[in-house]
Amino acid sequence: MSNIIHIKHMYFNKVINSKRILLIEPDYKATYPPLGLMKLSTFHKRAGDEVHFLKGTSSGVRDQHWDLIYISTLFTFQWKKTLDTIQFYKNNKSKAPIIVGGVLASLLKNEIEEITGVEVHFGLYDEIDRLTPDYSLIEDIKEYSLHDASIGYMTRGCINKCKFCAVPKIEPNFINYIPLENQLSKDKKDLVLFDNNVLASDEFPRIVRDLIGNNFNKGARVGKRQRFVDFNQGIDARLINDENMALLSSLALRPLRIAFDDIKLENIYAKAVMLAKRYGITHLSNYILYNYLDTPEDFYRRLRINVELNEQHGLSIFSFPMKYVPLDSFDRKYVGINWTPQQLRGIQCILHATHGVVGPKLKFFNAAFGNHEDEFKYIIEQPEESIFYRNNLLPYDEYINRLNISTCV
Ligand code: SF4
Repeated sequence: MSNIIHIKHMYFNKVINSKRILLIEPDYKATYPPLGLMKLSTFHKRAGDEVHFLKGTSSGVRDQHWDLIYISTLFTFQWKKTLDTIQFYKNNKSKAPIIVGGVLASLLKNEIEEITGVEVHFGLYDEIDRLTPDYSLIEDIKEYSLHDASIGYMTRGCINKCKFCAVPKIEPNFINYIPLENQLSKDKKDLVLFDNNVLASDEFPRIVRDLIGNNFNKGARVGKRQRFVDFNQGIDARLINDENMALLSSLALRPLRIAFDDIKLENIYAKAVMLAKRYGITHLSNYILYNYLDTPEDFYRRLRINVELNEQHGLSIFSFPMKYVPLDSFDRKYVGINWTPQQLRGIQCILHATHGVVGPKLKFFNAAFGNHEDEFKYIIEQPEESIFYRNNLLPYDEYINRLNISTCV
């Protein structure tokens, strides 16, 4: 039975007269709005249902009459809050069935079903996934970003199977083209595409044509305001070539995000950045995975490569370090084989001060992360207060001098 038929079956046969639908996102911190729930809202509203959305728990809401409750989930390290939310709504007075979906639920389906007894939907509802998200659901919620952007996908899945990534598990089939039209809200200026690996699509030229056909060409404006399209999950440096960079440069793209997860990709990554520059793309950004199989030295090196590319070529590359946590981890405490808890805490301290971003200026980079790998390791191994308040931190050169003196003695 297809997923959509399954919902219809539940909805029209098993739960007769289903009319009041409750959509819940657990009260964890989320930058992006719950796209799956927004599409379910469209689906149910089109069926004439009354749909309500709530972030978190409320007994006043729970104890109203509901016919069906959906709960979205995100990261596995949000396990406790997610599980508490499911248990909370399981006690709803109308005994409405609950369907839990999303990333965490798909990765830990058995665990959730065993502990809570609720139904977990694995992966996507393919037909619902093609619907326009119901943006009205979240318009009053300030914590989400992207209030002026349509959100969508023009491909699904990925051709690669990186072990640290949930995509191959949750979206095992690569769909190389999804039309844009249905996904756009005419009230939104920008467009954010969450494609996992758009350059893997042999339909990429068609995707670009669709974007240009919907006025996301380079220089596009809405009134006086510039429009932007953002392939938010980054593009794969290994797949970049002249042809697709030319296509990318014809779009209102900002920034161009290129993944740089592995130091072994240094040359390929730098070549991709230089090609972007050749095509006039100077605002770049990237995700830097750490705490996986990498070392503190190569993490530092990847950050520094970006800062040096900025300095040498007049670019503006912002880096976003992303700490690796195993896909089945219930919290964020995992320590990679080449890292120590103290080093990871040290990085968090630096990133706390820089709001999670590593900017393009060498001077600031040196001050925050050190002038070289050894100084970086020295900094991140210091007590938190010394990392926050650098006046308390013995300068690295002085530290080495003292070390040498004490070794001689
Ligand atoms: S290329 Fe990206 S999306 Fe694809 S499996 Fe690897 S990390 Fe995941």
